[in-house]
Amino acid sequence: MAKVVAVVNQKGGVGKTTTAVNLAASLAYYGKKILLIDADAQGNATTALGVDPGEGATVFDLLIDDLPITDAICGATTPGLFLAPGGVSLAGADLALAERENRALCLRRSIFPVYEEYDFILIDCPPSLGLLTINALAASHSLLIPCQCEFFSLEGLVQLTRTVEQVQSHYHPALTIEGIVLTMVTRRLKLTRQVEEEIAKHFPGKLFETKIPRNVRLSEAPSYGKPALAYDRHAKGSRAYLKLAKELLERTQPPDPALYAEQAPYGGETDDVSHETIPDQAPEATPEPEGGEEECQNEED
Ligand code: ATP
Ligand code: MG
Repeated sequence: MAKVVAVVNQKGGVGKTTTAVNLAASLAYYGKKILLIDADAQGNATTALGVDPGEGATVFDLLIDDLPITDAICGATTPGLFLAPGGVSLAGADLALAERENRALCLRRSIFPVYEEYDFILIDCPPSLGLLTINALAASHSLLIPCQCEFFSLEGLVQLTRTVEQVQSHYHPALTIEGIVLTMVTRRLKLTRQVEEEIAKHFPGKLFETKIPRNVRLSEAPSYGKPALAYDRHAKGSRAYLKLAKELLERTQPPDPALYAEQAPYGGETDDVSHETIPDQAPEATPEPEGGEEECQNEED
């Protein structure tokens, strides 16, 4: 029985895809069977695993055309890691989902036939809180939030928490925050410490001890179609994601079986969240910080 975890943050460029891909590869390295669902029109997780996002069926076909998920899943080069590809067709998913019955539960329905087969199913979410992300949350036991150490990070987390509460009340009361992981951490210790303290205050016990350093190997690996572990297993970034996987395995709770029970008690037609209640944030792009490369060099082995 899989634990389904959405990798989510409506803020753009905070390391969701890098975390989803490298955590998935690291969990597979520890012998777990993993399905990574790329729920983003950018298809970055798909490319990062060496699959052409324009080639075959995508998550759009599962959600909108009821294609069986097994027809979309392909193997990645990493043993134990499988992928349900994303891609540009998902750009129209929010609109198309709005027309569907039980529009927030389409992804959960798609996952249902295979969820016994995996140890973890990770969902790489787009940078918005639209229906795709709502679908991911309604299909997940928990969410993992990559968070960049920035002054506005906490504001985004508070906004995300409100969406989580909506999903809890409409579809899935047992949805929990698995943890918050700091990404692209540099040696600017003061800011890191401030953000850490703020998160610890607002989300006690949720911050992963493992921090992901800014590491150039993590940003190079996708262009080779590989997780960092396969590209340079000794890089700081690869080791950090292995450590994160270990920490996750040690602290994660077993999945709530009710979410994927045959007669799932959570959600249904009468409970469908009104589209108007879903906040429609535009994705915020986070530019790479100036001078990051220099710090990157410092972080290298
Ligand atoms: P989006 O919101 O657009 O989907 P995202 O949250 O998925 O973005 P990523 O694509 O994972 O973010 O990362 C944004 C950029 O930062 C990418 O170019 C990625 O290679 C780079 N990056 C992510 N994490 C790190 C890291 N720890 N060290 C160096 N570069 C990183
Ligand atoms: Mg992404």
